[in-house]
Amino acid sequence: MSIKKVTQHPTQNEALIFERSQTGRVGYRLPELDVEETPIEEIVPSEFLRDDDLEGLPEVSEVDVVRHFTRMSTWNFSIDLGMYPLGSCTMKYNSRLNEKVARIAGFLNHHPLAPEAESQGALKLMYTLQEDLAEITGLPGVSLQPAAGAHGEMTGVMIIRAALDKRDGEASKERRVMLVPDSAHGTNPASAKLAGFTVKTIRSTKDGFTDMDHLRELCDEGGIAGLMLTNPSTVGIFEKNIREICDAIHDAGGLVYMDGANMNALVGVARPGDMGVDVIHLNLHKTFSTPHGGGGPGCGPCCCTAELEPFLPVPRVVKEGESYRLDSDQPNTIGRVKAFFGNFGMMVRALAYIQTHGDSGLREATETAVLNARYISHFLQEDYEKPFEADPMHEVILSHKKQARKGVHTLDIGKRLIDYGFHPMTVYFPLIVDGAMLIEPTESVGRQELDTFVDAMKSIAKETIEDPDLVINAPHTTRIGRLDEATAARKPVLRWKPDMETSAKSA
Ligand SMILES: *Cc1c(COP(=O)(O)O)cnc(C)c1O
Repeated sequence: MSIKKVTQHPTQNEALIFERSQTGRVGYRLPELDVEETPIEEIVPSEFLRDDDLEGLPEVSEVDVVRHFTRMSTWNFSIDLGMYPLGSCTMKYNSRLNEKVARIAGFLNHHPLAPEAESQGALKLMYTLQEDLAEITGLPGVSLQPAAGAHGEMTGVMIIRAALDKRDGEASKERRVMLVPDSAHGTNPASAKLAGFTVKTIRSTKDGFTDMDHLRELCDEGGIAGLMLTNPSTVGIFEKNIREICDAIHDAGGLVYMDGANMNALVGVARPGDMGVDVIHLNLHKTFSTPHGGGGPGCGPCCCTAELEPFLPVPRVVKEGESYRLDSDQPNTIGRVKAFFGNFGMMVRALAYIQTHGDSGLREATETAVLNARYISHFLQEDYEKPFEADPMHEVILSHKKQARKGVHTLDIGKRLIDYGFHPMTVYFPLIVDGAMLIEPTESVGRQELDTFVDAMKSIAKETIEDPDLVINAPHTTRIGRLDEATAARKPVLRWKPDMETSAKSA
């Protein structure tokens, strides 16, 4: 047996788990059988049994596995490590308390098919969360089923479509235009299209607001089913004409959908239902304490007016007297959008978050999030172009306009930020700002860390003038420097084969 030499110092390139494999090595040992062995064919139907040999799986010990993945985890930036200023993501620190509550055995181990009589606690929790979200949004109909923001969007626009079909019958076919501002998250037009709508784009004004003249023009063209609006918008500005916008859409016979991914700027302060919005989704995994990144699971509840409530997905959690039950007897429902009742663990965290904060705590969190963004905006507006005049809400948008004259672009600034110990901000989104940098500190960053971030950004602005190459070639402190991202995207190497050049050798 040949012993392969593999790198294992934490700061060096880590060999793949396949390269660590030693024939015959195992991570566990079962006790001797003290009963007669049952042949596998008697347990698994033959059509499900594989008839080839399973080859190429890594053969490693438990300690090999633990150390391999622990080493790699130390290269990752995480919310537990420092400020994570990605805009439009609300990467806030999530209190351990909410994690602890989600791990209470009764919640954690409850089976989704357990009978209603034995699920009263879980149903009560879901019902209470629905009530709280209804109060926070000012929209009384709530479904917790959707598993992500984009999923909540799709649910919302499907509800709009079902409501219009019910209201207008055959004539509803003439009403298939969904208006979406040019600053919207890409998921908005995608959701509208999936629900069978044609998307028309509304321009933004140079101040970053929805262009009211263009909106009226599009409404006059007819066929309006609705509008999908993000507020505060993806440039972090509160849409001050929101009432007028909702009125214009309602006058045109349409309904208003609000993308609530930016609710961190509104919770406890302003309610979409009071602004004239008909339906909204929330991202529990942004605003309400579920950790996100890494692909989920998430939860994107859909909240709507009493008029739209009959169209919500089923089953619905309802309260009768002192008990709770699941109700699927809703003739106008759009149907089920997720297996079982959605991602229950997220709901536990969200309710723990809401109830530990209370009314005044939620409001304070929102105000702090906005204050933090304005603090950054205030101290960076001399060094970086601030494309819109308005005071930002929970996130601030800057651009590379000043730095681009020196050949330094948004990507370079983001990469250089890594050297200063910060995760880069959101880059090049939204598309309406050339070289956009969208920064969202959230309420979980203190004054000291805000100052360190501001200092880092100011220092990068200074480097851009004095030594632009330092920024253009960043990062300098990471294991691997600037990657060839175009090649990585065009020719991704996704599968390891035994005779491949190994990552350890090629680095
Ligand atoms: C994050 C986000 C979404 C999508 O949410 P997912 O949970 O990632 O599907 C939609 N709109 C906006 C504005 C967002 O920031």
